[in-house]
Amino acid sequence: MSTDRKRVLISGASIAGPALAYWLHRYGYDTTIVERAPELRTGGQNVDVRGAGREVSRRMGIEDDIRAATTGEVGTRFIGRSGSVIAEFPAGTSDSGGATAELEILRGDLAQLLVSRTTDTTEYRFGDRITGIAGDGDGVTVQFERGTEERFDLVVAADGIGSSTRRLVFGDEPQIRSLGLETSYATIPRTAADDDWWRWYNAPGGRSVTLRPDPHGTIRATLSFVTDRTRERAGSERRTIEEQRRRLRTVFADAGWEAGRVLAGIDAADDLYSESIGQVRAPRWSDGRVALVGDAAYCASPVSGMGTSLSLTGAYVLAGELAAHVDHRDAFRGYERIMRPYVTQAQQLPPGVPRVANPKSRLGIAAFGAAVRVASTPVIGRLGDRFFTPPADAIDLPDYAHLG
Ligand SMILES: Cc1cc2nc3c(=O)[nH]c(=O)nc-3n(C[C@H](O)[C@H](O)[C@H](O)COP(=O)(O)OP(=O)(O)OC[C@H]3O[C@@H](n4cnc5c(N)ncnc54)[C@H](O)[C@@H]3O)c2cc1C
Repeated sequence: MSTDRKRVLISGASIAGPALAYWLHRYGYDTTIVERAPELRTGGQNVDVRGAGREVSRRMGIEDDIRAATTGEVGTRFIGRSGSVIAEFPAGTSDSGGATAELEILRGDLAQLLVSRTTDTTEYRFGDRITGIAGDGDGVTVQFERGTEERFDLVVAADGIGSSTRRLVFGDEPQIRSLGLETSYATIPRTAADDDWWRWYNAPGGRSVTLRPDPHGTIRATLSFVTDRTRERAGSERRTIEEQRRRLRTVFADAGWEAGRVLAGIDAADDLYSESIGQVRAPRWSDGRVALVGDAAYCASPVSGMGTSLSLTGAYVLAGELAAHVDHRDAFRGYERIMRPYVTQAQQLPPGVPRVANPKSRLGIAAFGAAVRVASTPVIGRLGDRFFTPPADAIDLPDYAHLG
């Protein structure tokens, strides 16, 4: 049976992809999501849903589900050399504020929630990916790794910072800017001594160790270290898991505090994920019938605290503009006009971030500790808020409610 419904192929089943499918279905599109991984990837740590992203989650009717699944993190504490707390920032209580946002959820839990909301209305294909795209006046012919070929009206790449779909269409045009920091994430056992603060510890050599609570009775740990930004290629780690473990053992062997425990935890963890932190600076987000959304288009990096909010907002605006225009070219222009200033602001990190939070020398660590101690006092508290609060509201969110 043929229908007049337009068919959209989305690459990537994480945050941006399923959120886009949700909205496109509401506006009468047929959606298919192709995901490279054999099953939904549930790893990752806390992500913030702030400002406009939170408003979009409200309009999707999932704000309460996100709140029910929050990590329970009560705020951020900086830990000194002796293990004592040197400064603390309680969780934000507004839509946008604070290092710990009021709405924080594990990335995997949010992805699962978005997929569960779209699984009846979107065709999910795991373990496959796009290997060829040829657009013409009427549509796009797509080749898949499994050897099939199919026609779609539009294709959207939502496959993250290292998007291979983006590379097929744009070549090396978008610049991926390394921020000179490598971060590894893993889930480790919780102990009786753990609490519900995000604990942050600095070691000399530009290294940091963090521990965060989750709602599943485990602890989410990170190990980060400063790298040579001119040589690092931003994106997910290409070394094997065993190579990553070895590298972390070498770099963090003498880091102190809970580093030994995290290294032991990483040996047993099955979700170790390492990435070289960076941003995607793409001069345009569409070409013909192919568009980019989320990290594939405008990754702001985990240190911005804005990746998930940008993805939710971008998916909402892209779908809304497609529903509002007959011609996809007008829709893509509208999407970029509305989102571009918001993205530009989100990508402007506070001066020195992320290196300022990962000092190289003991003297630098002491200076950083003194700065956060001052910023955490009630008198200067607003300074701390400014440092940690990204521009999550800096967009006039259009209302597309009349369209679907
Ligand atoms: C496993 C994982 C863990 C993460 N952990 C954190 C974290 O701890 N903290 C944080 O701030 N951010 C984390 N992120 C990034 C965060 O999810 C994004 O910054 C943000 O939510 C935007 O999401 P996105 O959907 O645009 O891209 P992403 O979340 O990066 O998702 C991209 C999706 O596309 C899939 N994919 C990649 N290439 C292809 C391809 N060629 N074809 C089909 N599918 C493809 C990936 O498997 C993934 O499911 C993580 C991402 C992943 C994938």
